[in-house]
Amino acid sequence: MAEPTFRAPKGTRDILPPESGRRRAALHAFSEQAELAGFGEIMSPMFEDLGVFKRLGESTDVVTKEMFDFFDKGDPPQHLALRPELTASVCRGFAEHRPTPPWKVWYEGPQFRYEQPQAGRYRQFHQLGVETLGTDDPQADVDVIALGWNFFASLGLRQVTLLLNSLGDPTCRPEYLEALRGHLTDNASSLSSQSKVTLERNPLRVLDSKRNEDAEIIAAAPLMVDYLTDESRDHFDAVRAGLEQLGIAYELSPRLVRGLDYYTRTTFEFAADALATAQNAVGGGGRYDGLVEDLGGPATPGIGFALGLDRILLACDAEAVFPIPEPVTKVFVVDVTGGSHALDVCNTLRAAGIGADRSYGGRSMKAQMKVADRSGAPFAAIIGEDEVAGGEVTLRDLRGDTGQHRVALDNLVATISRLLG
Ligand code: AMP
Repeated sequence: MAEPTFRAPKGTRDILPPESGRRRAALHAFSEQAELAGFGEIMSPMFEDLGVFKRLGESTDVVTKEMFDFFDKGDPPQHLALRPELTASVCRGFAEHRPTPPWKVWYEGPQFRYEQPQAGRYRQFHQLGVETLGTDDPQADVDVIALGWNFFASLGLRQVTLLLNSLGDPTCRPEYLEALRGHLTDNASSLSSQSKVTLERNPLRVLDSKRNEDAEIIAAAPLMVDYLTDESRDHFDAVRAGLEQLGIAYELSPRLVRGLDYYTRTTFEFAADALATAQNAVGGGGRYDGLVEDLGGPATPGIGFALGLDRILLACDAEAVFPIPEPVTKVFVVDVTGGSHALDVCNTLRAAGIGADRSYGGRSMKAQMKVADRSGAPFAAIIGEDEVAGGEVTLRDLRGDTGQHRVALDNLVATISRLLG
């Protein structure tokens, strides 16, 4: 066989049936949870002015290294970028439309980051998320975290750890950053070369380093929690109390900083313990009380998360939960009289909401039965000359042991519906 001329670009992949059906089912489960919690869907553009994403922080990898940016054909050309995440777009949308707060929206869709692909890391990946804009009530934080937690549970995942931290606010953060920068600078000679560079740009991100050389210095670094203002501490305590009230277990993770610069106060991550540490982050989020203002809107607090669907499904595989859904095709119509009767029967079944499929090309009974078996349909409806003459089909049970029997065409929908329960 000839090699294909083109392949999906590096870091992207085709998601084929039946796996695509499983993703759709997961998206459905998420949308259900989100709508139940009072969130409405926002559908944002796939690309934005590059400036929107620059607000995520000029020192973050997402902005400096991973942006898929391009110029359009305008005069002058506009510098655009494929979205690497959706919080910035949601905040841009809030600033643009000024909805009445609190504004609670959910989203799903592909995101794009020019990363080095590896297991669970792609250049195009799918996120599910929510944002609540316009309130800094800690109970909004709890609601958001609980939604993520309940979604994981609805998939059947059991080994998910919630990591929780507070990154303080603009009043206490500078003092903490000063202390952290001091500690890291004092020990800079022992830091990894990468962390030395990160230290110049953003000392907080050094805490994210997983390199062995950095471990000891990071372990001895001052912690944000020790610098929180009373207000930020009360907020954090209220979030913790709310989670405890709902019975949601969490681990305090005082070095959790997250990859983007905009976070303040509550920050959290969901880790799938069934996955290897390199890709066990299945989602994360937090409070970003300055982002809407940065994008030209009114001062508006926000809290949200983004979950990575690709990794969530890897975690489902690892825990052997959330299998591929049952095939939608319930009846495979095998027409050995040429095929035009299959056209009618399929049409009737589909109109009644019963998944029906068929072969094409007037193939033999044996060939068609093979396709019927492969389809996963529980029943075959066989049409030969005898059946046509009697206005019937032969219904064959492909999975159970009820054998086969003739059914009048007029009774087919009712019979199948009964058999399917
Ligand atoms: P972030 O806001 O960068 O923490 O992203 C939120 C979630 O999206 C992460 O916890 C991952 O599950 C997922 N994610 C981020 N980047 C990628 C990627 N390159 N490939 C697959 N999933 C990703």
